[in-house]
Amino acid sequence: MTAQAIARSSGPAAERDPGATRQRRRIEVRGVVQGVGFRPFVWRLARRLALDGFVCNTSGGVVIEAQGDAGALDALVTALGDQAPPLARVNAVSVASIPTRADDGFRIKASLAVDGEYQPVSPDAATCADCLGELFDQDDHRYRYPFINCTNCGPRFTIIEDIPYDRALTTMRRFTMCARCQSEYEDPRDRRFHAQPNACAGCGPRLWLADLDGIELAGDGLKRAAEQLLRGGVVAVKGLGGFQLACDATSETAVARLRERKHRPAKPFAVMVADLEAARDLCAVSDREAELLSGAIRPVVLLRGHPQGCPLLARGVAPGLGELGLMLPCTPLHHLLMREAGTPLVMSSGNLSEEPIARTNDEALSRLRGIADCFLLHDRDIHARYDDSVVRIAGDTLQTVRRARGLCPTPTPVDVVSPPVLALGGHLKNTFCVLKDGQAFVGPHIGDLDHPLTRRHQGEALDTYLRLFRAHPRVVACDLHPDYASTAIAQTWWDAGAEEVRVQHHHAHVASVMAEHGLRGRLLGVAFDGIGHGPDGTIWGGEFLLCDERESERIGHLAPVRQPGGDRCAREGWRMAVAYLRAAGDSADEPTPAMREAGGLPDSRTWRLCSRVTASASAAPLSTSAGRLFDAVASLLGVAHISTFEAEAAMRLEALAVRGGAGVAPIDVAMSGTPLCLDTPALVAELCAQRNAGRPAEAIAAAFHESLALAIARACRRLGDEQGVTRVALSGGVFQNALLLRRAVELLRDRGLDAYTNRDVPANDGGISLGQALVAGARGRVMRRCMGAG
Ligand code: ZN
Ligand code: ZN
Ligand code: FE
Repeated sequence: MTAQAIARSSGPAAERDPGATRQRRRIEVRGVVQGVGFRPFVWRLARRLALDGFVCNTSGGVVIEAQGDAGALDALVTALGDQAPPLARVNAVSVASIPTRADDGFRIKASLAVDGEYQPVSPDAATCADCLGELFDQDDHRYRYPFINCTNCGPRFTIIEDIPYDRALTTMRRFTMCARCQSEYEDPRDRRFHAQPNACAGCGPRLWLADLDGIELAGDGLKRAAEQLLRGGVVAVKGLGGFQLACDATSETAVARLRERKHRPAKPFAVMVADLEAARDLCAVSDREAELLSGAIRPVVLLRGHPQGCPLLARGVAPGLGELGLMLPCTPLHHLLMREAGTPLVMSSGNLSEEPIARTNDEALSRLRGIADCFLLHDRDIHARYDDSVVRIAGDTLQTVRRARGLCPTPTPVDVVSPPVLALGGHLKNTFCVLKDGQAFVGPHIGDLDHPLTRRHQGEALDTYLRLFRAHPRVVACDLHPDYASTAIAQTWWDAGAEEVRVQHHHAHVASVMAEHGLRGRLLGVAFDGIGHGPDGTIWGGEFLLCDERESERIGHLAPVRQPGGDRCAREGWRMAVAYLRAAGDSADEPTPAMREAGGLPDSRTWRLCSRVTASASAAPLSTSAGRLFDAVASLLGVAHISTFEAEAAMRLEALAVRGGAGVAPIDVAMSGTPLCLDTPALVAELCAQRNAGRPAEAIAAAFHESLALAIARACRRLGDEQGVTRVALSGGVFQNALLLRRAVELLRDRGLDAYTNRDVPANDGGISLGQALVAGARGRVMRRCMGAG
């Protein structure tokens, strides 16, 4: 590409001191600096400082050559970090002196592609205040235009096909800008200068409502979609990263209809509300949560409902749970739709149960046909598929539950020197991670790899990452589990010559925390989750590990208990109740009285069969899973015997415990042996005895959480003393339980231990690709050194 001048300042903006010596410097800026208004920002700065030269994008970042007084040049460099535009993230600025040359004025030059170079791309950003003002200004020429955007907001990563980030390499290239849009695009003083998705109703994408056959319906699509919603219908909405399914969140019948059609009986739905005030009507919103809700990322934020419940919403939105997922509109389309509908809307991902969300219009029309009543479509293609992200504040820390739109592809700095690494994650909640030049790019939430469509989605997303970040992985990591689909994908890379690294599931969980916090060397890892492949062939999931970034050793665990029926136990929690009763010495001939308080118990024949199976080593593998412990307790307390979605029983148990209140007396969990074994069956037996003695279920649920948190802290203190370590990293899906996490961290700190948790990546299996990448990078380095020495 030729570097031709595309903008030129008209004459010097400030007076020059003719006596001062002029210098010229070449400045390279790295980080998220493209598609965020960085060049016009530099242009304005340079003009203000009376500097000559130019700024341009390259595929490696932004390059500036500036000439002028030394003081002005210093001021420019300082301001690059201090005053950068809101969406920019400056990671590094390098400055070199170069010979001066004849130059007049400061220019913005066209992008330069540099072979093999890459640079972080900005995630998509929510509509900014300026654009929102225009959107609802009757006199503005973009009044009610659903695709309004500017340099500070709009689609980014979802529309980019390659870098550098220029319109021609995005899905906007098919729209030719009108004269007015073009002049905004070319004017460095305009806030749409080089806004690649810039458009207006005259030249840009358009929105329409289509019926089930894809035929456009006459009239104002937004208004008609809102009418459909208010009549209780389900509308498929083409959002930023894919389709969403919307319905009236205040209508019990509409919500029930969506549940039935999606085959999703109980998993909570996220709800979109128009603004913060509407959010506060539904939930308690702290300042930090308000910031998250209304910031540029716009994730679903999990919030505590008001204690008196939430009469405004249909009960079917989040049945039986203490939390509600709320989000504010993230695109102009959503702002318009919310305004037309005038009511909170369920915004569920546009898919059938565990499939990936629909991305193209055709895909939506065929795959969502049985779910939606009509389709709100547009003709701006989505290149990269992204679900909505989900976060919460637990205690004083941010927890990412699902990392996707708005959060990806922001990299996590990981200080490890290695060739490019690809880590392929787990099997459920799959993500991948590309580690290159000390930056870990964790890909978007992919989903469960059981489904062929999901595996295809994984392949497409990975291709995009490898292309955009110019990565050619030489080390490829996966889980120890031989049957994960991600392991099969890794095999294809190894067959092609990549170095093979397998990382134990729970080590990867702990390593994800190490990567996020820059922790190196020995520490204690507590990995509590549903299931993971243990090197001894049993099921792990309640582990205390002594590990570093390379290796891990199991030094403690929950008592192994049989899982009658194997994987079925995750769905049928009552099976674990049987197993725990038997492990505690009970004959478990029939359900306890408390268990009869909840529906979903099997008939007595099935129960007895399960009880008998529990003695069989082949049909009931041994398991230390903490997730299954929660299932057992939920069942024994009569909270839930069945989970229709992952961790449903545990989430209900947590909600009950929160109602039970703080300050309950914990039960001491006995621990002994090497590795240290925590006697959780005895804990369960004691909880049952208290329940049978008439102690309320809320209080027992609270006591269970407190007892487990205390057991974690006591075990860590003891193991930490033995091993001479004071740092503890907590990870695994069970730590998405905000109550358990908060209390475990508090009790660890009370005992003088430093506790670390996941923030930017999920504690669930969505985070393990980051941990695998760290281990692979670190371990590979040692192996290479040994090989070099040998
Ligand atoms: Zn804007
Ligand atoms: Zn236009
Ligand atoms: Fe896990």
